[in-house]
Amino acid sequence: IMKVLKFGGASLQDGNSLKQIAEVISTTKGPKAIVLSAFNGVTDELNNLLSRILNKHFSEKQISTFVNKLKLEHLEFLKQATLECNDRVVAGIVTDDALHKVVGQCNRLERLLYGLRYIDEITERSRDLINSFGERLSVIIAAEALNHLGINCQPLEADKIGVVTDGLFGKSSAILPLVRKNMGRVVMPLIRRNIVPVITGYFGCDKYGRTTTFGRGGSDYSAAVIAYALDADALELWKDVDGFMSADPEIIPQARLIKHLSYKEAAELAYFGSTILHPRTVEPVLLKNIPIVIRNTFKPKGSGTVIHNYHIAHSVPVKGITYEKASGFIKVHGYGSGFGYRPEVVNEITGRLLANNINIKSILSAPTGIGLVFGKEDFDEAFSVLSRTPIKLVSGFEKVMDQALIAFVGEGMTREQGVAARVFTCLAKKRINIEMISAGASSAAGFFIIHRRDLKKTITTLYKEFFGG
Ligand code: ASP
Ligand code: MG
Repeated sequence: IMKVLKFGGASLQDGNSLKQIAEVISTTKGPKAIVLSAFNGVTDELNNLLSRILNKHFSEKQISTFVNKLKLEHLEFLKQATLECNDRVVAGIVTDDALHKVVGQCNRLERLLYGLRYIDEITERSRDLINSFGERLSVIIAAEALNHLGINCQPLEADKIGVVTDGLFGKSSAILPLVRKNMGRVVMPLIRRNIVPVITGYFGCDKYGRTTTFGRGGSDYSAAVIAYALDADALELWKDVDGFMSADPEIIPQARLIKHLSYKEAAELAYFGSTILHPRTVEPVLLKNIPIVIRNTFKPKGSGTVIHNYHIAHSVPVKGITYEKASGFIKVHGYGSGFGYRPEVVNEITGRLLANNINIKSILSAPTGIGLVFGKEDFDEAFSVLSRTPIKLVSGFEKVMDQALIAFVGEGMTREQGVAARVFTCLAKKRINIEMISAGASSAAGFFIIHRRDLKKTITTLYKEFFGG
């Protein structure tokens, strides 16, 4: 059976974690492909640099200092990983090929950064390109280390091997049939020759070959795309957590590991705040019923969470509670009491947002009002796009900030009576005010919005109601 294994930034801390990864890969039998994120924090560092680089006080010399530090850090990880290597190779020696590749990437990055500085402009396109360097470096380092550790593998850059996307910078989607064709041509032959491909996560390229990312945390999605393209039998996502928990253990210490989730449930949990999984990961694998297994790189014996297409009954209607701490919504006010069901109003609102590629997280409408929920990254832009020019029948938009969104997830709960009622009642008893609630749109999830100050209290109350004390 063919597997795709993905290791995220949290599993890529340093050289020692590469040994851990090698261990996991060598104990996985059969044909496989590896997808990697950047080393922990590298994408953040690249982003931070981009936010400073056009600043007057930023000196050009800082660019080469930055790139040099990045290079040395990566080479250090490699040394660490290979230091106590067996006698097959001389420990700690980086092959010319790997060194050449690392230096090559760093030179390219440095030139690009100087270019941006001189042009004095950062576009979505150049941002995506710069952001992709964390992964370009991590696959070179990891593949080299893995080769030293006895795994025959080869680093590959997704945009060079045809992970083709729709071209939306910063939030692209893969064009699955094309990726499948290209993987069949480039990646399958390697696997057949027992070479493990080590592929960059997080990005692909549009039809002109320009690098586009899948959004932050997007290497889960990359791995799902590769799993689809290779017709894999399983997708394993190796992280630094045991799997999905019934609630955030920081708020609920007795939270339990969820062993099984349906695709829908996982998608809802990820969409509404759980940071364990990139929200779009299930899309590609769902099409082929490829199960996803979430596992802990540092506790490889754990069972993890399995996400698949069948629904396993659960003793309580709610399997998991998740939240978004920094949420907010926009209230649409109108002239007249019926504006909320006038199709042209909703049409105009969604049309504007679509034209600006802004995703509406959720929409609730009533005759006298419409509520629009956005992810925190889209909130301000959504507001300005909507309020820029007047919309017929709309008297104004109101930002409601400092909110938290809480979702409760469990397949089939809309068929069960009284789940929403229990949510309402238990919170009312604690005098927690619900600003907005939505249930029923999905058979697997509902959510509501409260003031952020009530977050902990709300989660504890809700957990107690559904899971007991
Ligand atoms: N390195 C990218 C990020 O930090 C992608 C990922 O980690 O999944 O967002
Ligand atoms: Mg990362």
